[in-house]
Amino acid sequence: MTTGILALQGDFREHEEIIRRLGIPVQQVRLPKHLDTIDRLIIPGGESTTIGKLLVKYGLIEPIRRRAGRDLAVWGTCAGAILMAHQIIDGRPEGQPNLDVMDIVARRNAFGRQRDSFEADLDVPVMGEQPVPGVFIRAPGIESVGMGVDVLARLPESKIVAARQGRLLATTFHPELTGDDRFHRYFLEL
Ligand code: GLN
Repeated sequence: MTTGILALQGDFREHEEIIRRLGIPVQQVRLPKHLDTIDRLIIPGGESTTIGKLLVKYGLIEPIRRRAGRDLAVWGTCAGAILMAHQIIDGRPEGQPNLDVMDIVARRNAFGRQRDSFEADLDVPVMGEQPVPGVFIRAPGIESVGMGVDVLARLPESKIVAARQGRLLATTFHPELTGDDRFHRYFLEL
């Protein structure tokens, strides 16, 4: 089956390159009809407010929401993770649309100005012993998760940076910007 990559704004090309390299066909998603042939969807990093507006403009919210976690596995990185969250805290203009498909609470720009962007080696037990390089760019944090959600990784100061709820995956960093494709392979198995 084909993996869809939401291609409205943000760094979708980097995800696309990795999925193709893994030998999986890719469909860029801009319109509802592009969802017809996919069983997986990646929502890239970028600007969550912009992507949210474009999701509404192109009529994508409802069709994604209906299938997410069921016959559509969904992975959001950074801004994508924000858009998947049940609740978004901080700096969000009133009424800003989001998909609201995953039982997590996301805080935008959780690391403030001083640590705007940084890299950290992450201990992710489901990926094996080797740490996963984490690139954080104006990253959100996952403040809390619901009962059906597994925490996959935390930073040393205990902020949650990766979580999974069945066929839904959220990472607040950017695995597509490193040479490490373990998160992409993990998502393809969900
Ligand atoms: N801070 C951005 C937002 O709120 C996310 C940054 C990113 O995706 N790299 O949308």
